[in-house]
Amino acid sequence: MIKPARRIATLEESPTLAITAKAKELRARGYDIIGFGAGEPDFDTPENIKRAAVRAIEAGHTRYTPVGGIAELKEAIIEKFKRDNGLDYTPDEVIVSCGGKHALFNLFQVLLNPGDEVIVPAPYWVSFPPMVKLAGGVPRIVETDETTAFKLTAKTLSEKITPRTKAVIINSPSNPTGAAYSPEELEPIAGAALEGGLTVVSDEIYEKLVYEDNGATSMASLSNEMKQSTVVFNGVSKTYAMTGWRIGYAAGPDEIIKAMTRLQSQSTSNPTSISQWAALEALTGPQDFVETMRREFSKRRKLMVEGLNSIEGVSCIMPHGAFYAFANIKAYLGRTFKESAIKDSVDLATYLLEEAEVAMVPGSAFGNDSHMRLSYACSEEDITTGIERIGAALGKLE
Ligand SMILES: *Cc1c(COP(=O)(O)O)cnc(C)c1O
Repeated sequence: MIKPARRIATLEESPTLAITAKAKELRARGYDIIGFGAGEPDFDTPENIKRAAVRAIEAGHTRYTPVGGIAELKEAIIEKFKRDNGLDYTPDEVIVSCGGKHALFNLFQVLLNPGDEVIVPAPYWVSFPPMVKLAGGVPRIVETDETTAFKLTAKTLSEKITPRTKAVIINSPSNPTGAAYSPEELEPIAGAALEGGLTVVSDEIYEKLVYEDNGATSMASLSNEMKQSTVVFNGVSKTYAMTGWRIGYAAGPDEIIKAMTRLQSQSTSNPTSISQWAALEALTGPQDFVETMRREFSKRRKLMVEGLNSIEGVSCIMPHGAFYAFANIKAYLGRTFKESAIKDSVDLATYLLEEAEVAMVPGSAFGNDSHMRLSYACSEEDITTGIERIGAALGKLE
């Protein structure tokens, strides 16, 4: 028998897997399941980007590229940071990886020594704690709730810093809560991070999907000192509906970016050459697609959140960005259906899948058991019908 290594034995299976598998099975059996589980835009990649990929194939861009990305794409990324964030980077301070997820994975591998602590505000993106652990680090979870609109404060951050703390993760706008920090909120957090000598891991992948003012400030843009302490993560997956193309990028001080590039040179090598040319078109071509998608999400956001708040016992704060509603369902935990107890968010998600035929992700996947994540990357019709079904099913609980 082939036995996996100990570090993999401690890698937890995603708690969302069981629900996703069940939804799939029910769909295959002909049930009309409404899906609020999606972690990606329901839009197709824009035509000009697809064309650029076809042209790349025809032009023979089908060989290895420089490990950290083609020069043209790096230049486009540098230009993006200048245009959108007022940040100046050199090519040595930028790396292109196989998705933002891969760039983050690379960072934790090169940043952490065994036992180094990383502060992870909860609710967190599912991959943050396992990535930290796989790199030998220790995730230190800081809980947040509606009282701070699911945002970390300088005070809660400072209280958690120990001599072993190496970094803090800020994901704004956030998956799963949609929380986005204003510059006024980021400033004191940046101050606390600098005081503690921390590296700031700033996941800005939803930067372009914000629905209110002041939700798209890059941590690195606050001051030159912050730029030296921050690694920024972004990518084309969410902004350009390109999740399958696997292109993300990071920018930061050249020593850390060079280390990430060395690691990448010994693992994946370059991200797909064709996808890089497509990403170049995404960043430098017409941008109207992004605004069209953002407006569409903005409409759905209102419909979803108002719908959730109309259900008795459910409350949901208005998310400022991304495409998720994070609804408080605590009132329904501990209830029963036909004598079987709904103990936690997984039980409730399972119940809603079976009884309401609506799929969503239980909050425990994000480190918060009293909530559910409902994605509004779906049609308005699905939102209206799904909300009705959820309301009716919850009404049957005793
Ligand atoms: C989707 C997502 C990413 C990265 O996605 P990639 O497809 O790997 O670029 C990173 N962080 C968060 C919070 C996300 O939701």
